[in-house]
Amino acid sequence: MISAREALERLRDGNRRFLAGVRSGGVTSPTRRNELASGQEPFATILGCSDSRVPAEIVFDQGLGDLFVIRVAGNIVAPSQVGSVEFAAERFGTRLVVVLGHSQCGVVLATLEEIQQATENQSRNLRSIVDRVRPSVEPLLTSELRHDPEALVRHAVRANISVSASHLRHGSEVLEQMIRNDGLLVVGAEYSLETGIVDFFDGVPQDG
Ligand SMILES: [Zn+2]
Repeated sequence: MISAREALERLRDGNRRFLAGVRSGGVTSPTRRNELASGQEPFATILGCSDSRVPAEIVFDQGLGDLFVIRVAGNIVAPSQVGSVEFAAERFGTRLVVVLGHSQCGVVLATLEEIQQATENQSRNLRSIVDRVRPSVEPLLTSELRHDPEALVRHAVRANISVSASHLRHGSEVLEQMIRNDGLLVVGAEYSLETGIVDFFDGVPQDG
């Protein structure tokens, strides 16, 4: 089993390779595919946004069998996301969970717009996503940030990531126990569309 700290190092190394434009070879080869047909041991679970510009395997330079990826617009946490994280942790021993949001997230922008000017005909399904983002960004609109649209979006993106990470940490008995007893670690990270850098800013151990 790969510890959360080691997993975090692997992701950081992978993001450095992505930034440098040097992809590692072999990780998607037919040989690797054959090896994995009988089982998997992904070393990290990524709960990321569906945004086409933030594919976890690419921005962390990983291959087949490396990451257990859950993608949903706005990297929100609903019961099926909690269940997916539990599944990977219990079945495959995956010890690191990363909530991966990104700059200029369209769902966060849509939520800010919705709070400021409600639309009448929003679909019920889309509303279910916006409603999960709303509580983490709404308080920002009563702060001084409301006068600075760019800063508001930056803070809202991070708030949404932190709230999702917190929901995973406290979202189920199973995950709470694994955090207490089995070294499960949930961290929040923001990918910059502009620079390609992933900044792990939430829940990372100080000496790690
Ligand atoms: Zn997004």
